[in-house]
Amino acid sequence: MTRFIFITGGVVSSLGKGLSSAALGALLQARGFKVRLRKLDPYLNVDPGTMSPYQHGEVYVTDDGAETDLDLGHYERFTGVPAKRSDNVTAGRIYSKVLVKERRGDYLGGTVQVIPHVTDAIKEFITDDLDNEDFVLVEIGGTVGDIEGLPFVEAIRQLGNELGSERALFVHVTLVPYLNAAGELKTKPTQHSVKELLSVGIQADIMLCRSEHDIPPDARRKLASFCNVQEDSVIPALDVESIYEVPLSYHREGLDVQVLRHFRMEEDAQKPVNLSRWEKIAKILRTPEGEVNIAVVGKYTNLLDAYKSLNEALVHGGIANKVRVNLKWVESEIFESSDPVLSLENCDGILVPGGFGERGAEGKIAVARFARERRVPYFGICFGMQLAVIEAARNLAGIKDASSTEFGPTENAVIGLMTEWNRGGTIEKRDDGSDLGGTMRLGAYPCRLVEGTKISNIFFNQPEISERHRHRYEVNISYKKCLEDAGLAFSGLSPDGLLPEIVEIPDHPWFVGVQFHPELMSKPFAPHPIFTSFIEAAVTQSRLV
Ligand code: GLN
Repeated sequence: MTRFIFITGGVVSSLGKGLSSAALGALLQARGFKVRLRKLDPYLNVDPGTMSPYQHGEVYVTDDGAETDLDLGHYERFTGVPAKRSDNVTAGRIYSKVLVKERRGDYLGGTVQVIPHVTDAIKEFITDDLDNEDFVLVEIGGTVGDIEGLPFVEAIRQLGNELGSERALFVHVTLVPYLNAAGELKTKPTQHSVKELLSVGIQADIMLCRSEHDIPPDARRKLASFCNVQEDSVIPALDVESIYEVPLSYHREGLDVQVLRHFRMEEDAQKPVNLSRWEKIAKILRTPEGEVNIAVVGKYTNLLDAYKSLNEALVHGGIANKVRVNLKWVESEIFESSDPVLSLENCDGILVPGGFGERGAEGKIAVARFARERRVPYFGICFGMQLAVIEAARNLAGIKDASSTEFGPTENAVIGLMTEWNRGGTIEKRDDGSDLGGTMRLGAYPCRLVEGTKISNIFFNQPEISERHRHRYEVNISYKKCLEDAGLAFSGLSPDGLLPEIVEIPDHPWFVGVQFHPELMSKPFAPHPIFTSFIEAAVTQSRLV
């Protein structure tokens, strides 16, 4: 029997609802249950693929090529369950589906309305494409009371009613702020938020109370009584040092037990739970054996949500090497007018992540050159790989005007717009006039590794890997020979040999560029091998300086 846990948020945004959902998923999984996590986003964009990282943060790409909310990254990192297209939906997608049906005449002349047509489409999404999961956790984006969120809240209210309390549970994540002037915790915002939820027909069963201070028993009692929940179901969710301590902290506060009790799973609630994998991670993060300094040179460095998975994958690389990874985020544009040595001299490794557009690109090229010439470990991801190839073309192979068609027409398009490629046997085609949304090379594609290269060594001589992609341009295969002769090896290619996937400089301590996004697949308990190897190289580098 599949049970549904609906997670809403109140009082303010940015409470970390996604992390809370992921941590609860991890706890239930640690108890041996099969879980799946889903996110409903009430905004009108069809998906976040065309949104600015400043608006939305990172776009998380799934194996099946969906551009999704970054919370799916948390879900996958905490549970290891690969996220799918059917795990994230927006109001935009729901409405387009309803409108397509309306145009087709599927509603047989009826008036198409939010209730029941939109709410039915939402319910269908929540319950569709499941695979005998024990628990499906469904997070609703935004904050209770948002106008655009209403159809979603109404849909989960209806589902709760249809499924009954033995199969549905409502968790409300809320804020209990501490007022310095009064010297106490304030429960009023939470009371209001729970009332708001009640006004749309949902009684919270469990409250996760985010707070910077301990919630004393009397405040817990007060919250329970005003919000109409059991005292044991008021779960303090205090700030912790690392996000990977959240499952341990929730377990200590009794969250998983309360969830199971709600579902009358008393026997399961009594069973011991093995959280050793989380304990091990927390211990390494608390007591690392050393540290390395990594510079990440990008464009959205003042909004770290834009690089969420990257940030986490670097932490995972640190876990694998038992070191703390100190990140220095550097805006690439500064290298268009200043010498990289000034800000990068003390770095043990440099990473240039994915990106779009011309702004700051020359700065990144200067950084790739600095790393190559100074023999500092360099990791280029997607755009960071393409720009490293342009750098090598210009300065190793002597193609002075080497560039990418992303920056305008060019004679020497070392990087060019990809107009057709092979996806599992079918040819995908694009042209200059294609829509911007959902038209990149997206999702998992295989990559063949060339024997005897560094990358092949990193993957223990595995012949082929599968990695997730999100890009429109591609390294031009016709420059392969000329670049290889100049010292840049093509160590990974698409199975048809047409698309360069990985480049490396054999005569360098660690210089690797990948066309895909390995950060999307890394987990704290299974760090991605390329990140593990990069941080290992940075550890070696830190001993040199
Ligand atoms: N802008 C480049 C492209 O579209 C790189 C994209 C990326 O880094 N994700 O190919």
